[in-house]
Amino acid sequence: MVQIPSGGCHVPRYEPTICPYCSCGCGIYVVIEDGRVIGQEPWAEHPINEGGNCPKGRNAFQFLYAEDRLKTPLIRRDGKLVESTWNEALDYITEKLKKAEPNEFGMLASGKNTNEDAYTIQKFARVVMGTNNVEYCGRLCHSSTAAGLGPTVGSGVMPVSQLDLETADCFLLVGINPKETFPMMAKRIMRAKEGGAKVILIDPRNTVTARELADIHLQLEVGTDVALINSMMKLVLTEGLENKKFIEERTTGIEELRKHLDSLDLEEMAETSKVPIEL
Ligand code: SF4
Repeated sequence: MVQIPSGGCHVPRYEPTICPYCSCGCGIYVVIEDGRVIGQEPWAEHPINEGGNCPKGRNAFQFLYAEDRLKTPLIRRDGKLVESTWNEALDYITEKLKKAEPNEFGMLASGKNTNEDAYTIQKFARVVMGTNNVEYCGRLCHSSTAAGLGPTVGSGVMPVSQLDLETADCFLLVGINPKETFPMMAKRIMRAKEGGAKVILIDPRNTVTARELADIHLQLEVGTDVALINSMMKLVLTEGLENKKFIEERTTGIEELRKHLDSLDLEEMAETSKVPIEL
């Protein structure tokens, strides 16, 4: 929300950019006056947010002026961090980079970077510094997704556009709380629901997504995801509910999977996950 300063006639400048708060990637206008960001407004024509932003995004600019934010470069001298000017810091970094061997350099990025930022960061590390030492926070939260999606759908990222979410018939949400963490995606799931889509949520937590978005909430015991997913696959195959055409045309290993699931006991898996078989 724009904060109008008192006194005088000011004409703020509106700069379009992408909200850095979550990976929905909403378009925003940063409102700038006298070199200071005074607010944020939704980018009305942007296809992701369609003229709206969530409360987190609308207030994200306040991080810029948080009291505990580091505002001055610090250089470690004799073991102590000492305040410096930007020119000193940039000269210092340039000297260090010139001397660094590829295996002495690593680049840490952030999940809040845009795709364009991320591309530039990895390009700098690989082409300028000659190293593949690039890391980012998604390694912690996203590594299991990437490991699963890569071999199954060919790429370790979301395989559809956010706009396509509205065309789904059924959502299987596993361990996520989009009502709070990806509000704009939750909006599209809600639209799909208006068209008849169903939402199945697997999550041990009783989140706002569980309460307000899910048609079925499978509230499993923490750490029993594999038992629950195996039960679901076993039931689907036993009752002949699988999409045979899709399996034949797009997948491999169905017989191995059947054999593995045959060796598992539904009652035991339900006991492990604490999700009743009837659900
Ligand atoms: S959903 Fe909210 S926090 Fe996420 S990008 Fe959009 S405005 Fe920012």
